[in-house]
Amino acid sequence: MMPEPNLKPPLCSEHRIPMAWGETDFTFDEGDVLVVVRHIPGWVCPYGDDTAFAPGVADEVIRTTRELVKVAKHARETQPQFPKQEYLVRVVA
Ligand SMILES: [Zn+2]
Repeated sequence: MMPEPNLKPPLCSEHRIPMAWGETDFTFDEGDVLVVVRHIPGWVCPYGDDTAFAPGVADEVIRTTRELVKVAKHARETQPQFPKQEYLVRVVA
């Protein structure tokens, strides 16, 4: 896992306690296309209600999400006979 940046951990907006370095998921719902990016390094509240990304990570997640939405839309256009499609892409560290 990505090492914790040498920064003060952000506080949870709800509990006002420092969040812990760990992993979180990001879900992007564009109506007919749903993209889930899992295992993103970041700070998470121990109660699970808040997350914060390290500098640069959010940009990278958004870039990845845009690419995956493009792939899904392209696949749907080229294979309309399969209206329901689901992909799992795993990068092993
Ligand atoms: Zn919290």
